[in-house]
Amino acid sequence: MNVFESPGGHAWSLAIHGGAGGRVEELGVQGDGEYEQGLADAHRVGARVLEDGGSALDAVCAAVAALEDNPLFNAGRGSALRRDGSIETDAAVMFGGRAGAVAALGSARNPVAVARRIMEDHAAVLRTGVTEEAVRSWGLETADTDYFLTPGRIAQLDNVQAGRIPAQTHGTVGAVAMDRNGRLAAATSTGGMVNQVPGRIGDTPLVGAGTYARDGVVAVSCTGSGEAFIQGVVAHEIAARVRHAGADLADAVRDVLHEEVGGRGVTGGIIAVGADGRVVVAHNSPAMFAATGRGADVTVWS
Ligand code: ASP
Repeated sequence: MNVFESPGGHAWSLAIHGGAGGRVEELGVQGDGEYEQGLADAHRVGARVLEDGGSALDAVCAAVAALEDNPLFNAGRGSALRRDGSIETDAAVMFGGRAGAVAALGSARNPVAVARRIMEDHAAVLRTGVTEEAVRSWGLETADTDYFLTPGRIAQLDNVQAGRIPAQTHGTVGAVAMDRNGRLAAATSTGGMVNQVPGRIGDTPLVGAGTYARDGVVAVSCTGSGEAFIQGVVAHEIAARVRHAGADLADAVRDVLHEEVGGRGVTGGIIAVGADGRVVVAHNSPAMFAATGRGADVTVWS
């Protein structure tokens, strides 16, 4: 397991991730640095919001939207394909004790924006069956199938179905932030697991499993084999250990990843920001795409 911890004490903090699945060979990325550039760019987008005094909510939504727009990552454009070759996306956001989430979404360009809209709408916390018309009526952008579907992801599904690469192939994007007012936010967005069965919903849109934020405690965004994160209620379990048992944040992240994810024989990664702005990035997978820091001092993992 790899665990990174950065000290808190700054005016704001931001960490983002691009999934724990590693590089997708079928996407045909030739040169080095494309994944790293995508992560650095998305981090910069969120960091600018926080630097300018914007909210943690605005920052995580902006960073996640940038990753959704980048076809290298499994969310929004370039999402992984389900068993029948279709794409459905899931996303969640949490801020200020409230959450919004969407599952099995069809045509919204930025699922995280839909999750935020659901949070702000008060009619529900988690919605499915959100139509293209509903997305448009909220003033959010829609896109057709060709926008989301990339040749690399089609080839990836072929390879999984032919048994040429492992079935448990994953990826997801997320962000956690503490703003200048000490408020915490988390957002996560995904196309789910490659070749997933119709109707499967992973941990990403389930508040407390893949996404959780509580002011004064922690904000968490997860990636990996979703069933383990759901059954271990991983994001909330980390918060509970910090809040009720006074656990050190890095210990809580490490132990929960070890017990609830590793203990179920699967892999994943977690990013978390504590109430003091401390950032923890941990994964038991071979790789994890992530970025944290500020200004010229941004660390990118790939
Ligand atoms: N956790 C996501 C899901 O289970 C996939 C991933 O993070 O790789 O849908």
